[in-house]
Amino acid sequence: MDPLGPEKRLANRYIAGLFLILLLAAGSNLVMDRLLLAEEKSAEVIELAGRQQMLSQRIIQLAYRYVLAETPHERNYLHSGLDLAVREMRQSHEELLKHAPSQIYTDVADPIYFDPPYRLDMRVRGFLGAAEGLLAHDPGALDINNPYLQHLREHEGSLVLQGLGLAVERYVEQAGDAMRYMRWMLWTLFGLLLLTVLLLGAVIFRPAFVRLMERARELHREAGTDVLTGGRNRRGFLHWADILHTQVKRQAGSCTLLALDIDHFKVINDTYGHQAGDQVLTRVVEACTRHLRQSDVLGRVGGEEFAVLLPGIAPKTGMAVAEKLRRLVENLEVEAGTETPLSCTVSIGVSELLVQDENPAMALARADAALYRAKAEGRNRVVLAASDDDPN
Ligand code: GH3
Ligand code: MG
Ligand code: MG
Repeated sequence: MDPLGPEKRLANRYIAGLFLILLLAAGSNLVMDRLLLAEEKSAEVIELAGRQQMLSQRIIQLAYRYVLAETPHERNYLHSGLDLAVREMRQSHEELLKHAPSQIYTDVADPIYFDPPYRLDMRVRGFLGAAEGLLAHDPGALDINNPYLQHLREHEGSLVLQGLGLAVERYVEQAGDAMRYMRWMLWTLFGLLLLTVLLLGAVIFRPAFVRLMERARELHREAGTDVLTGGRNRRGFLHWADILHTQVKRQAGSCTLLALDIDHFKVINDTYGHQAGDQVLTRVVEACTRHLRQSDVLGRVGGEEFAVLLPGIAPKTGMAVAEKLRRLVENLEVEAGTETPLSCTVSIGVSELLVQDENPAMALARADAALYRAKAEGRNRVVLAASDDDPN
């Protein structure tokens, strides 16, 4: 047997489910965070690499114009422009290298920057060195065959531009791959989350709800059940009385009500003990229930008082049913561990659920009044409620 009760097991599963949801939510958050960070980083790197590409083209352009400048003023102006572009490119190159060893880009950037055929790091430095050499050269002795200019051109031809273009391409590709992977992770986590919630619903909430409903039904049944006889108690009886009274009002049919009280029951208790009395009560209910139809409603409304509803039965026929019950009880022999079997009698008051009654308790009061008369007239008899039994 399981040492944990079903409720405790359910609660444990519930906590485990919540914990799993918490983990998945935290995981999703982490992936989301990385996704945003990677997006930010890739945008930065792609911008830097693109900027370098643009700067290298600009440097070559400015270098030509600088060498071919016609006036010293023009040359001066181009000198400072070229100087600015070179410094900017050097700075962005260093920055890019600083970013490159990040987890995401190292695979892509390293081969282009450090391995043949591009060796981009070395070439960019050579390219910038040539531009700086040109800037430091005597402006008066510059011509189109200047070796620094040749070097710049050569470097242009020898893959700086191409390498930079490739780097940008690879960065974009890599960024796309990383995004796709993280999005896949995010959707997977979302799927797991959904599955967990569904599972929680199926494994925890549904059974819990079913148990709750069962328990509510049980409680409702228990609240209307008499513990001693297992039949209806006063509450259970009145519940049915309400239903049948509503039917009478709707369909103008009849429903007879009997109020039964065991005669001199106190004597049975006093003579044979409370337990024997209990047995008599149980047997009377058993016998009456067996005699009545399935649709009739019997309840124990007091200690040794019972009430019966006979739906579809008018008081005239109801009197006959009551008489049969009276005789049934009279002939009953109850084995209660006593020397001889016990017997008892009942007095019965008969009334009818009326359309004009505010509630079934009014009909019960009329039946009680008739019962009182049956007792007064000598007990063990059936009396029909008179119109002046009406408490109103
Ligand atoms: P009457 O003919 O006037 O009805 O007389 P009675 O003795 O039946 O009526 P009374 O009201 O004087 O006594 C009812 C007795 O029913 C008293 C009480 O102890 C007994 N009683 C009530 N409930 C139970 C029960 O659950 N078990 C048993 N054994 N006795 C009960
Ligand atoms: Mg009584
Ligand atoms: Mg009695």
